[in-house]
Amino acid sequence: MSITVETYPTLREAASAMRDGTRFLGGGTMVVRGLNFGAQTYDRVVRSTDAALRDIRSDGTGLHIGAGVTMAQIMQTASTDFLAPVARAVGGPAVRNMATVGGNLFARAPYGDFGTALLALDATVQMADGQSLAIETFYAHRAGSRGLVAAVTVPRPASGAFRFAKITRTRPKGASLLCIAAHLPGGTRISGARLAFGAMGPTPLRAKEAEAALDGAALDPAGIQRALDTCLNGLDPQDDALASAWYRRAVAPVHLRRLLLGEET
Ligand SMILES: Cc1cc2nc3c(=O)[nH]c(=O)nc-3n(C[C@H](O)[C@H](O)[C@H](O)COP(=O)(O)OP(=O)(O)OC[C@H]3O[C@@H](n4cnc5c(N)ncnc54)[C@H](O)[C@@H]3O)c2cc1C
Repeated sequence: MSITVETYPTLREAASAMRDGTRFLGGGTMVVRGLNFGAQTYDRVVRSTDAALRDIRSDGTGLHIGAGVTMAQIMQTASTDFLAPVARAVGGPAVRNMATVGGNLFARAPYGDFGTALLALDATVQMADGQSLAIETFYAHRAGSRGLVAAVTVPRPASGAFRFAKITRTRPKGASLLCIAAHLPGGTRISGARLAFGAMGPTPLRAKEAEAALDGAALDPAGIQRALDTCLNGLDPQDDALASAWYRRAVAPVHLRRLLLGEET
């Protein structure tokens, strides 16, 4: 099968060129792997050299991160320091040099670690057609979407309020058995917590009952118990080669407990 690759100077032009049988090329860690393994669903690849895709800057609402920013770039940029541990958890060095923020939003479980962190941080997804979507809305409509992502906007968390844990069989670079991102504003009494789980459903998912259970709670064993009891509600893990859905359900509260108490996972 022959493959057509088209390059456009702006993301808008690339977006106009999207149609059935076409994939947008971010860093290509999944798209090119698909081609190498003989993907039958696309034979046309569209890419863009738009410099805005690699932009990282602060604006009034938080950090603006272009969809083409790589995990390596996140790790090397001072303003994205709170996301560096998440970027470092994605694959090995070769993958991180190519893997983009935009591509991670489309990764299927067990991948999508970076998107899980963005979900806990209430990021906004900026589409190439100018729409802004809350990341939860973006994920709810991701299946079948052909829209291109231009950037994400991420509110910067207060120091120490963001935590991330990735559970793998092979450290440091295995795929997630699950990952957990927690935004825990409020200091000694939590207010407005966000808990997002990766690899516990087809997309990263929030544990909303557990978030509510943390409202006004202290991060001690008694304060977090109701969150642990309810954290699986709404999650939908799958069996895969790494772990069964049963196993994922069994260990998720254990790792959430460790993350909330600040223990080693
Ligand atoms: C060996 C290996 C290890 C990996 N380990 C991890 C891991 O530990 N954690 C993890 O989360 N992921 C992992 N991945 C998956 C993948 O590398 C990452 O999810 C990465 O962030 C995907 O980004 P990309 O730019 O390479 O995506 P691409 O391969 O370029 O694209 C992936 C999908 O996203 C779409 N897409 C890309 N950019 C956009 C955009 N701007 N707008 C709309 N659609 C877009 C593409 O069309 C395609 O459908 C791994 C992959 C490999 C091969």
